[in-house]
Amino acid sequence: MSTDEINQSEDVSLENDAAIEAFFAPSSQTRIAEDFKSGYVAIVGRPNVGKSTLMNHLLGQKLSITSRKPQTTRHRIHGILSNHEMQAVFVDTPGIHRNEVRAINERMNKAAVSALVDVDLVLFVVDSDQWRDDDLLTLQKLGETDLTVVLVINKADTLKDKGTLLPLIETFHESFDFADIVPVSALKNQNLDRLQEVIASHLPVASPIYDTEQITDRSERFLASEIIREKIMRSAGDEVPYDLTVQIDEFKDEPAHTDAKTGRPRKACTFIDATIYVERSGQKAIVIGDKGQRIKQVGMDARKDMEQLFDKKIMLTLWVKVKRGWSDDERALTSLGY
Ligand code: GDP
Ligand code: MG
Repeated sequence: MSTDEINQSEDVSLENDAAIEAFFAPSSQTRIAEDFKSGYVAIVGRPNVGKSTLMNHLLGQKLSITSRKPQTTRHRIHGILSNHEMQAVFVDTPGIHRNEVRAINERMNKAAVSALVDVDLVLFVVDSDQWRDDDLLTLQKLGETDLTVVLVINKADTLKDKGTLLPLIETFHESFDFADIVPVSALKNQNLDRLQEVIASHLPVASPIYDTEQITDRSERFLASEIIREKIMRSAGDEVPYDLTVQIDEFKDEPAHTDAKTGRPRKACTFIDATIYVERSGQKAIVIGDKGQRIKQVGMDARKDMEQLFDKKIMLTLWVKVKRGWSDDERALTSLGY
């Protein structure tokens, strides 16, 4: 490793191996009906109730995911689900679900609620097995808005006695004026079709916000670079330039195979090499951090997000390089794919 670069690489297996092969499957040509519905859908709830799984499986079932719009958008767009009758753009609400349980109430402040202002629908996700006071506090905050909220009771597959579901639904019904209540198992793809119908029924009639076409692999690359960029911006903030550039040098899918040397099965994996370009060596030091701590954390956080978003195992290698004045240099811009 040269002193000019730092390399960070790690190998951690997916928490959930049930890879969804259809995740990035091409969509069939979508016809736009006159009563087509579209809108923004926020998925909220405390950590671990299955929000990410739900989003991935909703998307995995059907069509495409495309990139969130860089910077310009008010929402972090994670996934776009299009079918013949609707397009749901799922948005993240970092103020609410990224935090520890106890912090939720505190963090469900105005800022967090304002992140929800423009959404057309909220999916409030709970664990069928573990209803907590914190869920109620979050609900109270939602109650202060006039948002349409659908309750998604997830992990229905873990209920030992399905008979407990009805009284549970009753309890929820009393506590909040939900537009709908839908029990599902995100993991087992149970009742997700019903949930899609419910989502569609609450979205306004509008033309699609994004292309309903299939995604290209450029989108995955783009998302990967945006995720890395976001992690750096979050961690280093004002200390690095706003227009810092991340170039994806390699994006290689390796199918599941048997290791020639050991004879052991190897899971499918995507190898991503990326270079973070900064303008000055001082910025490079900031991105790398003390003893490489920052870049390591950026790599881990970015990989986790990618594994969740792409639903596959990722090997991520990050490099940091100084490219002086790259933003003025046309040749450099061309080589960076602009
Ligand atoms: P998040 O923090 O709300 O995004 O939750 P995750 O999507 O990361 O899920 C947390 C854990 O719950 C993971 O281990 C999932 O595999 C698991 N999980 C999610 N949905 C279901 C479900 O429907 N049934 C079961 N049994 N487990 C689930
Ligand atoms: Mg999550």
